[in-house]
Amino acid sequence: MKVMFDAAQKRHYPGFFLTSGARAPNPETPARADILHDAARAAGLTPEVPPDLGLAPAAAIHTPEYLSFLKGIFARWQRIEGASEEVIPNIHPDRRGSAYPLSAVGQAGYHMADTSCPIGTETYAAALRSAHAAAHAAHRVMEGESAAYALCRPPGHHAFKDLAGGFCYLNNSAIAAQVLRANTPRVAILDIDVHHGNGTQGVFYDRADVLTVSLHADPARFYPFFWGHDDERGEGPGLGYNFNLPLARKTGDEGFLAALDRALSRIAAFCPGALVIALGLDAYEGDPFAGLSVSTPGFRRIGEQIGQLGLPTVLVQEGGYVCDGLGGNLIAFLDGFGATHRVASGAG
Ligand SMILES: [Zn+2]
Repeated sequence: MKVMFDAAQKRHYPGFFLTSGARAPNPETPARADILHDAARAAGLTPEVPPDLGLAPAAAIHTPEYLSFLKGIFARWQRIEGASEEVIPNIHPDRRGSAYPLSAVGQAGYHMADTSCPIGTETYAAALRSAHAAAHAAHRVMEGESAAYALCRPPGHHAFKDLAGGFCYLNNSAIAAQVLRANTPRVAILDIDVHHGNGTQGVFYDRADVLTVSLHADPARFYPFFWGHDDERGEGPGLGYNFNLPLARKTGDEGFLAALDRALSRIAAFCPGALVIALGLDAYEGDPFAGLSVSTPGFRRIGEQIGQLGLPTVLVQEGGYVCDGLGGNLIAFLDGFGATHRVASGAG
């Protein structure tokens, strides 16, 4: 298996993060990428730098208005006298209607769900390269590789079509799924990050061709709060094609694996031609976000169960923050996945 990554993804280095109202160092650091890349190589994966795929993969998911905003907002922000170093919204619409503000401050509020997705000088370029890693991994799988790992950093699953949030700017998992759709009528996305994949859900909420399934800490008391509840099942043609499995805080291996069983049964019933795993590693018992309590051996078992589906698979890195177990958890997942993953010939 290959690991897709470009060092330019590390140039995004957000300084700002508000946690419970207090300013703290942003945990979505470039060091995460180094740890995960070393771990992928230790697990036997071969590094590959994705080609420059331009704007097309992102434009297949995100609105042109939003992509223009991401590209230009940093320079516009610098022209505001006394503005912060990074773009950080200080206003949010209570409901987003048709009115679209002209001002940089207004647009930042419109396109940024919270304060944990600051935009610096390299953010757009790094996010674009992260999206290229996802799209290129999907291309490799379409070409016949049974699986590929996209080391996407910055992550993507909290990004909607026109809204950044939670360290995410471009929705890499959605981008991978959309690429795969060119080859197969149905693609499933399984999100195992500790946080609900609200952006991914939002992108596909009214579609029946992409099944979205997410296991996560119950949003009643955990980010992203306003999405991820079990009554969110999709809408219009997408009704029944979104499946949320909120878990009680501190749920450990057994509870997580039981929920994973339900998720995998649902995916099997959808009969997809390919699978995207939104591979957050922050359900770990030692992760700084402390939402769930999956152990390192638990990640191996999660990888084994997912591998048993036997689907062409794109693994897309989502969360998972610097702690002692981060690299080991990726190795455990990849080992487990590799031990069971066999794609039937002709699939995909
Ligand atoms: Zn997360």
